[in-house]
Amino acid sequence: MDFLRSRQGIISHIAIGSNLDQPADRCREAMGHLADLEHSRLIRVSSLYRTEPLGIEDQDWFVNAVAEIRTTLPPRDLLSALLHIESLMGRVRAGRWGPRVIDLDLLLYDQSVIDEPGLTVPHPELHKRRFVLVPLNEIAPYAVHPVFGISIRGLLDRLAGAGGKVEFLGGTPARITENGKERDC
Ligand code: AMP
Repeated sequence: MDFLRSRQGIISHIAIGSNLDQPADRCREAMGHLADLEHSRLIRVSSLYRTEPLGIEDQDWFVNAVAEIRTTLPPRDLLSALLHIESLMGRVRAGRWGPRVIDLDLLLYDQSVIDEPGLTVPHPELHKRRFVLVPLNEIAPYAVHPVFGISIRGLLDRLAGAGGKVEFLGGTPARITENGKERDC
């Protein structure tokens, strides 16, 4: 039963978003960085989705996706690694809702509930955002939100028509690198 052998680390889900500078390419680039993350393994990524901007509506639509990783990084170190990828990719912080070349959010860290200055997990907006729930539902419909005790599929059903428009774009990366080696994803 090789597939059942215990593995080190926990499962975490990361939201990926961009609406600047060829956003689909930027999302794929971020997936490449996640594949190279230390003490971690990229398990799967969702399709890309074209999504309506929320908050500031007068800006380009976003491209969004979600990645699932297995990691032994503690949550703070994982957040730091995500912020590092954002800065490597040239993210300039210009307001909460504005355009961005890349945005990486720590959505879920196994069943952990964290509420500290600078880090809230599950991500506090996860259950309200269709652009997060749709790609997350594609790769982890049975993951359970540890605060609400409801699956991702259940949260998406409860959103009904709310949470912003989301259109399927396809385009998962054909190949991304993992520890320097290319692999299908
Ligand atoms: P933003 O990039 O606008 O989503 O905001 C990033 C900031 O939110 C970071 O500096 C983090 O300290 C903080 N933050 C709090 N919780 C999270 C989380 N779950 N994922 C990503 N950033 C978080």
